[in-house]
Amino acid sequence: AKKTGKNKYKVFTQLLRDDLNNHFTLENGLRKALEKNEFILYYQPQLHLETGSVIGVESLIRWNHPKKGLLSPVLFIPVAEENGLIVQIGYWVLDTACRQLTLWHEKGLSNITMGVNISPIQFRHKDFINHLEKILTDNKLDPKYLNLEITESVFMNIDESLFLLKKLKEIGVKISIDDFGTGYSSLSVLKDLPIDYLKIDKSFVDDLYSNEKNIVQPIIDMGNNLNLQLVAEGIECKEQLMILKEKKCHIGQGYYFCKPMDVNVTEAFIKNNLK
Ligand code: C2E
Ligand code: CA
Ligand code: CA
Ligand code: CA
Repeated sequence: AKKTGKNKYKVFTQLLRDDLNNHFTLENGLRKALEKNEFILYYQPQLHLETGSVIGVESLIRWNHPKKGLLSPVLFIPVAEENGLIVQIGYWVLDTACRQLTLWHEKGLSNITMGVNISPIQFRHKDFINHLEKILTDNKLDPKYLNLEITESVFMNIDESLFLLKKLKEIGVKISIDDFGTGYSSLSVLKDLPIDYLKIDKSFVDDLYSNEKNIVQPIIDMGNNLNLQLVAEGIECKEQLMILKEKKCHIGQGYYFCKPMDVNVTEAFIKNNLK
């Protein structure tokens, strides 16, 4: 019994060591990736469901790893949030997305908006507002075209986030609540927030036509009552699109229209889908 106990311990420490090692390598890799410019942005178009016209895009980061290829953000964003690198990565994302948007505007794609995912850690960082204002000025971007996507978890500290949201309103950027319905924000809180868009989480869009008790309709009704624009994410088939249109959801994105794409393919898609 003693022996197996010891072996178990050995296995456990080895696993722990591997884990820490991986973590360490990943953290170093992320630092290098910033220096060597290995991150790239993909873009997923967002369409006005009634007309099918593109109204904007959401930027989604990828890591173009020299050995492992294109890596998904779910593999490295959580680590970057843990070690604080998300602040620098997030700054790079904001700057790159805004620069691209200004370029598109200059090319005549004038009313396109840009959604940027903001980690709660980046959102609460003391330099966030300064960073944001600098990026807007540097890129000569009208703030109303920038749409910051934050999750409900930001409202755990309601006083602090309300202060920040008001500041963002003064600057003039738009605010989306991402993954709406998956967090725990209470409706009474929501009604007092200066926000512009609710993004209905993909999980609710998934079972739109399989589940009669789906909560998409109540979310849409509430959004309409609060004068918010509704964005459905993860639309994968025609049936979902039809139901969402019928329920008067305004905007949507998903593989049914297109996957996130690199900058050139995105630009071609926008040009072909402006009405
Ligand atoms: P999210 O903000 O909820 O983004 C939506 C995710 O769903 C994206 O995954 C997108 O590619 C994927 N998606 C879009 N349409 C469909 C669909 O029809 N079907 C399916 N199955 N998936 C769809 P992605 O690009 O892997 O990003 C995952 C998450 O990583 C994002 O979730 C966001 O939380 C985070 N993320 C991505 N880019 C950034 C970034 O620049 N900064 C921060 N802080 N987080 C980011
Ligand atoms: Ca998002
Ligand atoms: Ca989302
Ligand atoms: Ca999500």
